[in-house]
Amino acid sequence: MPEFAVRGRLRQARREATPGPDAVGGAPAELAWRAVPGLVRPSPVLSPDDRLRPDREADHGLRYPPDARRDAFAALRRQPSQDAAVPGEQTRPGTDRVLAVGRPAVRIFLRRVRKKGGRRTARPASYPKTSRVGGESIVRHRHGDLAKAIRIIDELRARYGIDLSSLGSVNAIKRAYARAPRAVRGALRQSGWKLNELQAIRDAAAQYAPILGPRRGASPLAGVAQEVTTMGRVEQAIDENTAAAELDDDTVGEYFQAGRNLALFDAGENYVDRTLTPGLPPPTIEASLKGTAIHELAHGLVEPHHLGTWVTQMAYWRDPYTASGVPGAEEPPTAYGKQNAAEDLCESVAMFFVNRQHLQQHHPARYAFLDRVVAGWNPPQAQAAGQAAQAAATRACARSTGGP
Ligand SMILES: [Zn+2]
Repeated sequence: MPEFAVRGRLRQARREATPGPDAVGGAPAELAWRAVPGLVRPSPVLSPDDRLRPDREADHGLRYPPDARRDAFAALRRQPSQDAAVPGEQTRPGTDRVLAVGRPAVRIFLRRVRKKGGRRTARPASYPKTSRVGGESIVRHRHGDLAKAIRIIDELRARYGIDLSSLGSVNAIKRAYARAPRAVRGALRQSGWKLNELQAIRDAAAQYAPILGPRRGASPLAGVAQEVTTMGRVEQAIDENTAAAELDDDTVGEYFQAGRNLALFDAGENYVDRTLTPGLPPPTIEASLKGTAIHELAHGLVEPHHLGTWVTQMAYWRDPYTASGVPGAEEPPTAYGKQNAAEDLCESVAMFFVNRQHLQQHHPARYAFLDRVVAGWNPPQAQAAGQAAQAAATRACARSTGGP
C-alpha cells in the first residue's frame, strides 16, 4: 500500500510543524493546490482537522483525478521553493509553514517511489556491497567474500604483525606531503578493500614472513621495530610535496616510513604490470598487486638495512641518486629501477620473489646479493624457533577467526 506509506510520511512532517495531540497530519492535496498555478482550491474550505484527513477527501470534493495528482507532484519537484506560494493569495497563519515542511516531504515520497522501482530491478545484480570491518571498508563481490576477508585480516595481524588502517595511510600521506595545498590534502579519501587486494598483500607479506610478526624475534632484526605495521587503502595519492601538488591517478602503492604504513591506491585496481615478468605469461591484476606490495614492503623492510651496501656493490651506481656510467655494469632489472638505487633495490626484491629465474639469469649480481639477504633472515639457529612461532601464529589465527 504505497499510498498509505506516502501519507504517513507527509503526516509526520505536518506533525512536526504543528505539534499537539490533535494535529492531524499532512495533505498531499493541500500542498499541491498551492504549488501548482492554475489549480483552484475547491470549496468548501475545510476545517483544519478535516482538510488534512486523506480519508475524508471524497466527502469534501478534495480528490484529484489521478493524473492531476501526479502532475502536481511533478510540478512540485520542478519548482524552486519560492514558487510554492501563489503570490497575493490570502493564507491562513501557519500555511507557509506547512508548505515549508511539505516540500521535503514530497521529495521523500518521490525518492521512495524511485527506490521501490529501482529495488525490484536491481536485486539480481546487487553486488558489489560494502561492509565495515574494524574501521575498514570491505567491498564484497560475491557471497562468502566477507568471511574470507576477515580470515585474511586476522592472518595479517597474527602472523605478520600488520593491521589494516586506511586512516593511518591518509594521515601518513598528509604528513609526507605537508607542503601540498590544504585542499589537496583534505581531498584524500579512504577507499574500500577488495578481496583480491587483501589476498595480494597477504601473499606479499608472506615473502617476508621470517622478519614479520612473531617470527621476527628469531631473525637478525629482532632488536629493530617492525618497519611496516599498518596497510591502508586510499583513493588517490598526492603527486609531489610542493605548493603545486595535485591528487594523481597513476600511483599504485606507496610506503611511508614515518607512519610505518603502506598505502595502496585505486590506480592498482586495473593495473597489469608486465615489467617484473619478462619471459613469463602476462600477469593477472592480482599478481601485479602482489608485485607492487612486495616492492613497497621492500622500501620498509629491506632498504633501510641494505641500501648502503647495495650502492657500493652495484657498479651501476656512483651514489644513491647517480648512475656511474661504468660500461658493462649490470643494469637494474626494470626501467623504473633506474630512477635511483633505492628503486633498483626494491624492483630487484620484487623480481626476486615473483620471477627469480629471470633475475638469476640476467641480473646475477643482484640475485646473489638478495639471495644472501633472504637467507640471512632465516639463520639455521633461528629456523626451529621460527617454525615454533609460525605454528603458534597459525593456532592464534585459527582461534581468532572462529566463524565461517
Ligand atoms: Zn618504490
